[in-house]
Amino acid sequence: MNVRSVHLLPRPAWVELISSGSHTIAVPTYRDLLKRAKKALPSTATTKDRFQVPEVDVLQEGSTTVLRNLAEIGDAINRDPQQVFAYLLRELGTAGTLDERRALFKGRIAPENISDRIRSYVEEYVVCSECGRPDTHLIKEDRIAILQCDACGAHRPLKVIKRAAKAEGEAVQEGKVYEVMIQDIGKKGDGIARREKYVIYVPGTTKGSIVKVQIEKVVGTIAFGKVVRE
Ligand SMILES: [Zn+2]
Repeated sequence: MNVRSVHLLPRPAWVELISSGSHTIAVPTYRDLLKRAKKALPSTATTKDRFQVPEVDVLQEGSTTVLRNLAEIGDAINRDPQQVFAYLLRELGTAGTLDERRALFKGRIAPENISDRIRSYVEEYVVCSECGRPDTHLIKEDRIAILQCDACGAHRPLKVIKRAAKAEGEAVQEGKVYEVMIQDIGKKGDGIARREKYVIYVPGTTKGSIVKVQIEKVVGTIAFGKVVRE
């Protein structure tokens, strides 16, 4: 390559020439640097869109509710299925067992109840509240569980106990409407639904139906409601 041909090469658009005395150097333009820096940054919006928790695959087997894809959900959110299962048991207020890749819950539980709880699990234990990405892991520091974000470095403590107590208090409230499954019929003919530790009596319903119920009265852990139609 001879010197002359180098000088005749067209100057790329992203280069600007800076002269100082007899020297001329080619440097990338500010605009180009900015463009390259932006390219190097992770694209938060698209990663967030791609993060999808599989829909719950729920089956009723007699008086048992089977979540058939618990392990798949655990894989997708990068959490131990056992941990997710323990959370579900506590939030749903029921007993159950883990069977290979499936979770078995005692009683008939509406699929929406399970997917609601998984959604809150993901919000609390998976997604970074700073950048919204799921690339996080849990660490323990001085006996406090902390959610550490691998994407942006943010971390926040998990208020497990406080949150669980709050969720329990909110499970059934007077005046509110909940979608429930009628799991049984009581002695007086009223439908019986359960929501966490609460038993809800709903007149005029049939076993197995999923209804929207407005809570009229709560006494201890027993609630009375009526069906609402929208
Ligand atoms: Zn983050």
